[in-house]
This record gives sequence, C-alpha cells and structure tokens, in this order.
Amino acid sequence: MTLTVFIDGDVVISTDGARTDALAAQDGRVVAHGDDARALASDSGAVVVNLAGDTLAPALGEGHAHPVLGGLEAQGPAVREAKDLDGILAAVAKWKAENPEAEWIVGASYDATFAPGGRFDARWLDEVTGDTPTILRAWDYHTAWVNTAALKAAGITAETPDPALGRILRREDDTPLGTLQEAAANDFFATIVPPFSLEDRVRALEEATLAYAAQGTTWVQDAWVDAADIEVYRAAAAANRLHTRVNLALRADPATWREQLVEFSDVRQEFRTLGHPLVTAETIKFFVDGVIENHTAALTDPYSDTPEDRGLPNWTEDELIAAVTALDAAGFQLHLHAIGDRAVRIALDALESARNAAPDHVRAHVVAHVAMLAPEDIERFAKLDVIANFEPYWAQCDAVMRALTIPHIGHDRESWQYLIGSVARSGATVSFGSDWPVTTKDWRPALATAIARRDVTDPSDPTWLPDECVSPATAYSAYTTGIARQALAPDRGSLELGRVADLVQLSANPLTTTPEQIPAIEVRGTWLAGQRTF
Ligand SMILES: [Zn+2]
Repeated sequence: MTLTVFIDGDVVISTDGARTDALAAQDGRVVAHGDDARALASDSGAVVVNLAGDTLAPALGEGHAHPVLGGLEAQGPAVREAKDLDGILAAVAKWKAENPEAEWIVGASYDATFAPGGRFDARWLDEVTGDTPTILRAWDYHTAWVNTAALKAAGITAETPDPALGRILRREDDTPLGTLQEAAANDFFATIVPPFSLEDRVRALEEATLAYAAQGTTWVQDAWVDAADIEVYRAAAAANRLHTRVNLALRADPATWREQLVEFSDVRQEFRTLGHPLVTAETIKFFVDGVIENHTAALTDPYSDTPEDRGLPNWTEDELIAAVTALDAAGFQLHLHAIGDRAVRIALDALESARNAAPDHVRAHVVAHVAMLAPEDIERFAKLDVIANFEPYWAQCDAVMRALTIPHIGHDRESWQYLIGSVARSGATVSFGSDWPVTTKDWRPALATAIARRDVTDPSDPTWLPDECVSPATAYSAYTTGIARQALAPDRGSLELGRVADLVQLSANPLTTTPEQIPAIEVRGTWLAGQRTF
C-alpha cells in the first residue's frame, strides 16, 4: 500500500496541456491530482516528495534499442567517447591498465571516419595493447579493427582468402591491415573472440537498465534477442536485476521462420507464465533490408551512385507477406526494420495483407527507422494503424548524412528522410527510440533534434527539412503515449487518474523549454508503477 505524494511541482498530466501542481500515486497508479493529492500528504505512511518547482512528467520509453550490446560496450574501453584516433588508443591503454588480467580486449564502437577510408592499422593498436589480442567494433557494427595478436590468434595471414560475404583489408603486400568487414568481422567474433560470460552479460543488462532508469526511462524495446540473450533475461529476471521493463523481439529468419514459430511461441509463453512484471517477449523482429551506407537498404529507384543497384532486401515480398500474416495470426507484435523506401513499402504491404486476413485483431505493429519514405506512402501508417518508430537523433544533416547518405540516394530523395512531421500530421502513432548503442540512448538531445531538426549544440547548423519539425508535445508524446501504444499498455504514457504511475522528475519542463536548453534538463527521479527506480 505505498502512497507517494508529489507536491509543489509543475505536473504534466498529458502532452495536450493538462497540468496540475500535485499528484498522488498509490499501489502503482495515479490516484489524485492537485488539492486532493495534497490532502493525502498527511496520511500516515505517505511518502511526500517535495518537487520544489521541478516538473513531474510521464516517464519515457525507448522504442528500439540493444541494451545487452550497449551494456557490454559500456564495460569495455570507452572508445565511443573518443574524439580522434589518439583518443581511441588512449581509451584502450587506460582500460588495459585497469584490467591487467584480461586475456582479450573487446570494445565498441569507434568512429570509422577517424582513419582515411576507414582503413585502421593493427600496428596502431599494437602500440598500446602489446601482445593482448584486441578487437574493436566500428559504429556500424559491421566492421572491426583488430591488432596483430588478434590476427595471429585467428591465423589470418596474407594467404587467407576473404570469406564469401566479407573482406579482410590488406596492405600493398597482401598482409592483413587490421580492418575486417562484414562476414570477416562477424566470423571473427563468432569463432575467435571468447564469448562474454553469462554473468558479464547479466551485469551489462543490469547496468543498461540502471542507466535507462537514471534518464527517466521505464520501458525498453530490445529490438533483437537471440537464444543467448534470452538466457541473460531469464537470469536477470530471476535475480531481480532489471530496473526498467523490457520487451524482447525475437528475430524471424527469412529461411527458417516456419520452423521458428514453435520456438517463438514457447519463449513468449515462458515469460507469460513467469509473470515477471518487467519482462515480456511478445514481439518478432524482421530485418526487411539493411542500411544505406553500404547499399543494402532497399530502394524503389536505384542508388544514385550505382545506376543498376536497388539494394538488397532480405525478404522477397511474397515470403514477407506469408511470414507477417502467419505471425500476426499467432498474435505476435511485429517490429520491422525498414530503412529504404522500398523496404518501408513492402513492410506496409505485408502488414496490410495481415490486417485484411484478420481485421479485428488487436495489434501494435511497428515499422522501425523509416529512414526513407516515398511521399505516396505517408498516409498508409494512419490508414493501416501501423506505428512509425523513428530514431529522431538521426533527423539532422550531420557529417554521416552528408558523407555517407546523400551521395548514395541523391539530392532528389534527400527530402524523403525521417518524415516525422508528415507522418504525425497524418494521424499515425509515432514512437521514438535511439537504436543504442548505434546512437546515444539519451532522449534529451534526440527530443531536441525532433523539434528543431538541427544540431542544437551548434548555433550555425541550419534547420534540415523544416516541414518535418514537430512540436514539443508531439515529440514528447512519441516517447510516452506512442510507446504505450507500442507496448500494448494503454494505461501508461500519461498521468490521468487511474493511469500507471510511471513518472520522471525533471529540472525543467521539456514542453516549454527551448530545444537548445533541452539537452541540459536534469533527471532527478524516476518511478516505475510508483516505485522509485532512480
Ligand atoms: Zn537496431
């Protein structure tokens, strides 16, 4: 019977403008506002939180992330924070000094633009690692940089051929340089690098959820779990080492999804039976395509720099329709990674087929990323009641956009990217996420980017695609009510009476603060169903 009463604050009941100055939460639900809430403060046993003018708002959700990977990254050398090549080497040297017993140094994720052409030399690492085998992943998680000891451990020499779907970058004399791409990197991780122990991975997950709690987040979509990750969630749930809710997405394989159906149902049922308040496994992930940078995103018209090439969808349209329809019929929530406009279209086509097959089904299907969207498809999200999950931090014209995206898709299609404003105006549900550790999990700079469509820390950065800016209320809703929809939890996402008391205490109101000031908002407390998690 916990009763918590929040007084003397600016309480955002919902993003449509409802406000009050006090709120009471009992047994996980909002039970009173304003005077009624204040009256409860004198109850014996009431915990009173004096907000001292701070904002109390609905807590946030994370619509797409990889918390185990992100947590593991945080345990390794801090190469992500490095500003240049020397910074990476300094981070590796520091980690080695702090972990002298480590048999391997495994880290992520470095900025591949720090060396010309993304060509990173094993010898640079050797200077700080010595004989300790070392492997670092690049930002894209498709490339790795290894030292000489790691090459030796894998037996990679001038004579080693490239694997079928990968490449070993080489020096002029054919000796391996130290940079591995695609399958060359993936195989290396799968067969050479010792796997992290279960305890390491549980600790990574625990720390990831602690970090989410510390930024006001109470629900996370883990956008891709494999069997080893499920083991981590099982162990973390059993030991009560989760600090946010997490919903797991199991990946449907284009070749074996029919056989996977039983396993998917078993995992979902296992977590339903477990009844742990923080873990569900209700979702299936589809990679409809890849990414624009390496021409694997599926486009309707060819890449502008390779006239015959329309990208590489992972699914044929017929097979995607069959799988989406079958998994929808089995009651799963679907989460479809789609980057190119063609991928978004076939994702929507498949979801439309599933909907026609079972019109009355309750569903919260998501097309995630929606990096490119053909103008004629904008209205389809609302029409089909499909959630558009965007990673709003990407909606700015930064160095990656200028160097790695626009040259591939061409200026004609530049304005088809991250159409958050258009999709929101069409009446569709929009949810936001980060894709951490691909980009920062911090919602504050991402919220500011959704509103301003520019790097708000750089006064000279111009607004990019200004029609696609959204209001602070729309942006905050994407992290709250949009996420509640995605989580199939209609009683979360706002603070009306009777709603779940998922709360965040902030030093300023994100709905009324300028975008430039949003990144500096401090998170001063987080409550999940009335229980303090930070
Ligand atoms: Zn992702």
